[in-house]
Amino acid sequence: MTAENMKKDIPELGAIVQRDRETYAIAPHLPGGITNTATLRKLVDIGEKYGCKLVKVTSAQRIALVGLKEEDLENIWTELEIDKGSAIGFCVRSVKICPGIDFCKRAKQDSVGVGLAIDKKYHGMPLPNKFKIGVSGCPNSCAESAVKDIGIIGAAKGFKILVGGNAGGQPRIAETIYEDKTADEALKIVDDIITLYEKAASKGQRLSKFIDKIGVENLVRYIDAPVGDKERILVEIKE
Ligand code: SF4
Repeated sequence: MTAENMKKDIPELGAIVQRDRETYAIAPHLPGGITNTATLRKLVDIGEKYGCKLVKVTSAQRIALVGLKEEDLENIWTELEIDKGSAIGFCVRSVKICPGIDFCKRAKQDSVGVGLAIDKKYHGMPLPNKFKIGVSGCPNSCAESAVKDIGIIGAAKGFKILVGGNAGGQPRIAETIYEDKTADEALKIVDDIITLYEKAASKGQRLSKFIDKIGVENLVRYIDAPVGDKERILVEIKE
């Protein structure tokens, strides 16, 4: 197979070409990895119908159907009736969420409630680079919050907010910028971080690099500023 006729990812079909450069994987969006038996049954039935070779639970808490043919992809999505989501590209990826207070005896805060609210609002939003968020209900941090662009961790008195982590080629532990925040406060902080990053970071700049450039104190200054002052601070940061 020549480089020209090698198959590529098909983002509009949520399809990721496999190592054989012939077949595709899709990973329907299951927010927080939470689903039910009817959806699982549908995934199994449709996977079987279209000759899916393997099922893989991904690190982003999605369930990938692997080894599908390109010509079947549109029909598969039509029959699945599940959001394709955004598994690749420069955007907000699936928010990783631990089981939280409804299920886990160790939980201190409602990670599922906060995580699903963030996923609903931001999943798939285009940003200067990929953007990962992890929400954990207690300091055990089962959603790996310390290696996400934004990490949220429940503690006895509220949520801790961390920024600038990643787990790639240059792993980096996120820096804590707030503690003891309510769920609403945590959501507002996430809004501000994403807004500033979207408007002021350059293309390809991961949040950690953006923070290195502007200084974490300026990120916090923007978040803490009254609404009326944010635009002015944004302009200053961009200069
Ligand atoms: S982070 Fe804490 S609350 Fe969440 S699953 Fe792990 S132990 Fe349970």
